[in-house]
Amino acid sequence: MTPATDASPVQSRRCPVCQAEPGAPVWIKGRLRVVQCPGCSMRYANPVDAELVNGDFYHHLAGPFYLSPDKTAGDYATIRFARERCIFRRHCLSGRVLDVGCSTGGFLHSLNRLFPGDYDVLGMDVAGPALDYAKQQGLSVIRQPFLDASLAPSTFDAVTFWAVLEHLSDPLAFLAHAASLIKPGGHCFVLVPNLDSLAVRFLGSRYRYIMDEHLNYFSRPTLLQLTRQISEFAVVAIESTHFNPLVLWQDWRSPQERVPDADRAKLLRKTTGWKESPALLPARWAYSAVELLLGKVNLADNLTIVLRRR
Ligand SMILES: [Zn+2]
Repeated sequence: MTPATDASPVQSRRCPVCQAEPGAPVWIKGRLRVVQCPGCSMRYANPVDAELVNGDFYHHLAGPFYLSPDKTAGDYATIRFARERCIFRRHCLSGRVLDVGCSTGGFLHSLNRLFPGDYDVLGMDVAGPALDYAKQQGLSVIRQPFLDASLAPSTFDAVTFWAVLEHLSDPLAFLAHAASLIKPGGHCFVLVPNLDSLAVRFLGSRYRYIMDEHLNYFSRPTLLQLTRQISEFAVVAIESTHFNPLVLWQDWRSPQERVPDADRAKLLRKTTGWKESPALLPARWAYSAVELLLGKVNLADNLTIVLRRR
């Protein structure tokens, strides 16, 4: 195993899905070492920098990335969480909602704006400056790591993890804690990048989202295997969603070890603008058809799973 290039401490991990010992690296990209579990085929980063595990990294990243005007404009655009809201509303039409890893609060803010009075929302994150922004937008937030927070059990109708589980050293512990907070009949929503996406199949480790901060690379089988270990949850839906052809094109044309955070935020804002432009409506129909098709064959960018508390 190649040692870290600076003094940051690293932690080694077992498979986050089946706890087996790690296998050999299958992807090496800068400091990132991704191994494949010989037991369940889960791909995950090992070893990882301690600051990615304890959350310090995100606290420091919050200023330059999460709070850049491009990122906040993108996250607060109505279209940004449209797919997530659509799935969410199919299972939860009202009640108390906790968004874990809420960042600047884009998802919760959109719920309040589009469905006024339907939800009582609460956000949590370890990135302090991002939470400050969420609070300035009128959202209630808790500044504590999720596993340490003292929240009353069985009091939430929904807990959401939008693009969070891929960042966690122990995603199973987070799901188990979520299960304890959700009322019987309530739901947990999880969105993660899809290891079997067209983008990963085509680009491999050149894909920008094979990155230091992403500690876990779930496929449909490994995501199901993880969630089924929480006996309080029943799986009610799993689907493949989202497709960003521009990312595919850019990463194929000019692969970089790490796409600068500012460039990622700029692209997010640009594609959000296109999705909202009336002039591009016919192009959007074609795009939606492609996205739908990719989703049907499990090749879209993300996986979303919905779990019901028994
Ligand atoms: Zn495993």
